[in-house]
Order: sequence, then C-alpha cells, then structure tokens
Amino acid sequence: MSKTYYIETFGCQMNEYDSEKICGLLNTEGYVEISQRDQADLIIFNTCLIRENAENKLYGKLGEVKKVKRLNPNTIIAVCGCIPQNQEIREKILTKYPFIDLVFGTNTYDQLPELLYDITQSQKKIIAIEENSDDLIEAIPKVRKFHHKGFVNIMYGCNNFCAYCVVPYTRGRERSRNRQDIIDEVTELANSGYKEITLLGQNVNSYGNDLQGSYFFPDLLRELNEISGLERIRYMTSHPKDVNDDFIAAIKDCNKVCNHIHLPVQSGSSKVLKEMNRKYTKEDYLAFVEKAKREIPNLSFSTDFIVGFPGETEEDFEETLALVRQVRFDAAFTFIYSVRPGTSAGKREDQIPDTIKHERFDRLLKTLYPIFESNNKACIGHDYTVLVDDVSKNKPDYLTGRTECHRLVHFKGDASLIGQVVKVHITKARTWYMEGNLI
Ligand code: SF4
Repeated sequence: MSKTYYIETFGCQMNEYDSEKICGLLNTEGYVEISQRDQADLIIFNTCLIRENAENKLYGKLGEVKKVKRLNPNTIIAVCGCIPQNQEIREKILTKYPFIDLVFGTNTYDQLPELLYDITQSQKKIIAIEENSDDLIEAIPKVRKFHHKGFVNIMYGCNNFCAYCVVPYTRGRERSRNRQDIIDEVTELANSGYKEITLLGQNVNSYGNDLQGSYFFPDLLRELNEISGLERIRYMTSHPKDVNDDFIAAIKDCNKVCNHIHLPVQSGSSKVLKEMNRKYTKEDYLAFVEKAKREIPNLSFSTDFIVGFPGETEEDFEETLALVRQVRFDAAFTFIYSVRPGTSAGKREDQIPDTIKHERFDRLLKTLYPIFESNNKACIGHDYTVLVDDVSKNKPDYLTGRTECHRLVHFKGDASLIGQVVKVHITKARTWYMEGNLI
C-alpha cells in the first residue's frame, strides 16, 4: 500500500512554491497526499520565520502532533523551510519537541527522498541543513495547486539585509535563475493551458544583477510577454530601491504584464526607512508611484506596512498615515513589528511598547480601509476581465476571480468557468472585494 503524507505550509508564496516541489518529489517516490493529518505516515510542516506569529503557530502544531507520534511511533514528523535555517531556533525546537524525526532547510529539500530512506533504515533523527548554498535547485517535479495559474521562481535569496528581516540569513544571497530555464518553464506552463504566471523572488527587480550580463527584469518581462497562450504575468515582490524607468516602460509596453504593482513601502518616514536599511526615502517612493500612475493607465498599487519599528515616534507614524492618504493604496498587508532572531532591529533597546504598537496598528487600518472601499466603489458600472479561480467559499452558486489589477470579484456563474478569463460588469463594492454580473 502507498505511504501517505500531509503537508502544511506557513508564510509566503516562496514557501508555497517550495511545498509544490516537495509534493512533486514525494509523489514521484510513490507517496500519496492526504488531508487527514493524523492518519498520515509522514507529516511535514514547511515553516516561516518572518514574523513571531508564524513561529508560534508552528509550536501550536507541534504540540498537537505530539499525541499522534505517541499513538503511532512510526509516523515521521518533519519540519522544513525557514525556521530550521536559524540555528538557535532549530536547537530550541529539537530540545522542546524531541519526537521530530527530520529537519531540513531551504537548501536541502531536493534531498528529501534520500533523507526519508535514511530515516527508515537507521530509525534515527536526521538534520539536513546547508547554511549558505550558492546552488540553484532545478528540475524538481512539482504538484501545482492550480491548473490555470502557477508560480515560477526567477531568483532565490536576498542581499538587502533590511534591519528587521531574517530572509538573507535563511535563504542566502541573491541567485538569479538562468533566463532560458525560466522561459522554458513558463512556455511549458502556457502549453499546458496555464493562463497566468506569477514570477517569484524576494526582490524580483534585482533579477540579473548577479549574472554579470546586460539582461535584467524588464528584459525578462518583455521576453515572457511573447509566449503564446499565456494571458497574464504577475510578479512578487518588487523592492522600491530597484524600480526604474525601464520597469515602468516594460509594464506599459507588455500587454500581458498586469497593471498592478505590489511595492512594499513599510513606513512613510524617511528616518524610519533609513533605520530599516531600506535604501530609499519617502520622497523616492512617492516619485515612483506618481510617475508609474501617470504612465500606466488604471495601475493599482498594493503595499506592506510594518507598524511599531524600534524608535518609531508618533510623528514618524503620522507620516505613514499621510503617505497612505496620498498614495491611496488599493490593498495592503499590515504587520505589527516583532523581534526576529539575529536581526539588528531585534537588538535595539528602543522597542515600542505593545499597547502603542496595537493602537497605531488600529489607526493604520482605520485609515486604509475606507480608501480600499472607495477605490473599489469607483469600479462600479465598469467591465473587467476576470480570471476565474474557484467557487466562492460562502455562496456555492458564485465564482471568485481576480481582475488584471488584482481586485477580488464575486459573481454568479457555473463552475465550468474556473480557469477561464471572463468579463464581469461590477455592480457592488466592499472593502476587500467587488460583486458583479457575468457579461
Ligand atoms: S528585501 Fe528586505 S524585507 Fe525583503 S526579503 Fe530582503 S531583507 Fe527581507
């Protein structure tokens, strides 16, 4: 009988994509994925270290599976991803949860079949971590979550060392994938019916900087735009220090590159941005947004904010609110700052008290939400192309999808439309979504 596995993924799209590869490797080995965690022969947690919340979630899950391991000692419990890359936390979880059988990192998941073989042979705990690998792991089979949209990694790692972030320590320095490997992967997806791809990287705009050539992210966008069958190109995440006129021109010229930019600003105070080591000022950010909106019709902007970075004053925070009002973002991921192990910001003594962080966080949301709603309301009465993703979770006769500018749309329709690009006339708008009628 086939062995079964259960996988749970925390964190960003990069982890989601790594999980698709882990599933691909396991399926090739004859394992079958199941959704009942406690019945699986192998339980994998693909972890995230970027916020304290994600770390605490893992501890909760490990507490739950302790009982599973006690009832069935043959179940293999594995922890992988960013958390094990940090030595201090890795040692902490191995001490606190001694029943974990396998720990592997972001540079060793391709070794999973051999690691599982070794565990069954030796019956011993295995820890497979490579601290700083320059290797690019290619040619891994993937189990893709969707059949109409998919992720494609274009680079790994990050060189930026933002003061609050662990990624350069967990995923190493920037490594761009070979251009032809990316083109081949996207072409293969388009040939298999995929309509949308999202190019992934911690900082996609620095694609090519490490290749010592003259081929950069805008060149890649232009080349991918020529692939027939493909309809939409997205990318995550862009860094404000690396955006430039070529980038704007590529979005403007390429009809398949979506008119949506996710550009994390983090703070509206140039002083805080400097202390975060972000390498741009509030003025740089605003100048880019203004130029991009002027050049690209109907461009939507989303962003990330961190509230309560060490040393953030009331005046700094007011500057963030002022920037929100000026840019009028269409969506945002908002985070309360939390100390991350090994980061320079985590060592600062001027941490902001929790009560102030929460109070500022609430004020940020109160400023953002009416803007999101008002931006969505401006779409009422207009028609949008929507890539249909799924049946609505709340209303079974409704479908959900995204416009090119990344707005979420619900509308009545048949499940046979999933994966199709359709036109929807918008009739209602709320803070997080719009509703409409299929045309
Ligand atoms: S750009 Fe900054 S926040 Fe983003 S992954 Fe790199 S270090 Fe972290």
